[in-house]
Amino acid sequence: MSKGSLFIISGPSGTGKGTVCDELIRRGDVYLSVSSTTRDKRANEIDGVTYNFTDVEHFKQMIDDGSMLEWACYNGNYYGTPREAVEKMLYAEKNVILEIEPQGAFKVREKMPEAVLIFIIPPSIEILKSRLIGRGREDNEQIEKRLDAAKWEFLQAGRYNYIVENDDLQGCVAEVAGIMDNVVKMREKVRRLIDEAEQM
Ligand code: 5GP
Repeated sequence: MSKGSLFIISGPSGTGKGTVCDELIRRGDVYLSVSSTTRDKRANEIDGVTYNFTDVEHFKQMIDDGSMLEWACYNGNYYGTPREAVEKMLYAEKNVILEIEPQGAFKVREKMPEAVLIFIIPPSIEILKSRLIGRGREDNEQIEKRLDAAKWEFLQAGRYNYIVENDDLQGCVAEVAGIMDNVVKMREKVRRLIDEAEQM
């Protein structure tokens, strides 16, 4: 049975990957997995839509009972992808995006080697910093921690299938969408080739 394609989008905090994912969802034909997290909800976030906000005890329970496809600790908070929702969408031949950090991305790749990993980079560290400060979501200590995490995250970029620069939002969205469309198209083509080859 054919399945949908799984895309993982990562990049340091402040690269704008969330906005890129929102735009990709608006284009249609792809679904965004809603992660669970133990981090505090921000004023503009909606429980069950932005994240499923939960506590550490419940999160650990979900790890123990195998309901997480992957999980990671980022800046002292747990984040994880609920397995069932993603698997259901893939089996329903829907294409799925996970917007997750690299530790989780590599755990998914181990389980699902066909996942396509896309890493978004900012044009410069200066711009990354000013985006983090400008969006006003985190205090200075959090911003420092996120910049610190970015150093390790940049070192992981070479392990991704694609690296895309988010200089201009629409250009970045078009590039990522192009990658995704091509993967889906080529996989369909390969499936047809396999069918033909079996009839030879
Ligand atoms: P934020 O606190 O800014 O919403 O997210 C912090 C980091 O956690 C981001 O890099 C984001 O991509 C990542 N993240 C969000 N959900 C998940 C998840 O389910 N699993 C993993 N491994 N990382 C996640």
